[in-house]
Amino acid sequence: DSESVIDVRLGTLGSRGVLLLAEDRTRAVRVEETRRDFVANVSHELKTPVGAINLLAETMEDAAEDPEAVRRFAQRMQSESQRLSHLVQEIIELSRVQGASALPDASAVDVDDVVEEAMSANRNLALGSDIVLAGGAPSGLQVYGSTTMLTTALSNLISNAIAYSPSGTQVGVSARRDAGMVEIVVKDQGIGISKEDLERVFERFFRVDRARSRATGGTGLGLAIVKHIATDHGGEVTAWSMEGQGSTFVLRIPEMGRTDATTVGTANRS
Ligand code: ADP
Repeated sequence: DSESVIDVRLGTLGSRGVLLLAEDRTRAVRVEETRRDFVANVSHELKTPVGAINLLAETMEDAAEDPEAVRRFAQRMQSESQRLSHLVQEIIELSRVQGASALPDASAVDVDDVVEEAMSANRNLALGSDIVLAGGAPSGLQVYGSTTMLTTALSNLISNAIAYSPSGTQVGVSARRDAGMVEIVVKDQGIGISKEDLERVFERFFRVDRARSRATGGTGLGLAIVKHIATDHGGEVTAWSMEGQGSTFVLRIPEMGRTDATTVGTANRS
């Protein structure tokens, strides 16, 4: 999907002729473009909460005589700065996973531990939204990688499932073995994603509904982080959805013992 950029250099070999050196710079150019887009996106995304905090501070100054108004502005400043700090946290997380050449603290990972941890990290969120978070994983499934990173990835999928579902619905988490891979499945009965948007949800900063995502504290980085963590483990993340019916996200990681562990961490980089 990208044109080839070939660097050609000409050298002379004395009287014996010329030497032609060609180097494909396509990848380098693409990496540079991606980096530039990312920096532009990050600056844009940071400007919004910073601008809001600034404006609130100015307005608060004018309202100094009215303690009730001051209190309201202070509360809004607090929630904007929380958003800002969440955004910064996710930007750091994303640059960590996309820059990693190898997995930190890689070892045998018990999938049931990952599932249990990611589920308990989201218990309160589910409770607060009146959503039943159910499921678990059988013991004995193992993958090779980072427990922390895999827990982050699964936790992102679960918190999305909760955020984009109406109260009274269920979010189910399960895990199984399939053709040399471990599949961890997060299924919700939420608002769903159109076919067109589904192709883009793993892009950095992509949000179907910016207003809704903003209201739920979304940054548009969660699924990009999940995708990087999956590929860093030699795996992948996929999604199915029907608008209005719900979504299913599947994290597939090679089962330990069924793959050459030494290749994990370099496979499938984009
Ligand atoms: P965000 O921080 O906005 O949730 P993500 O990268 O995690 O960012 O997700 C990108 C977008 O994909 C979300 O803004 C939302 O529109 C959509 N999305 C993600 N998960 C779900 C889901 N389970 N159900 C419906 N929409 C979802």
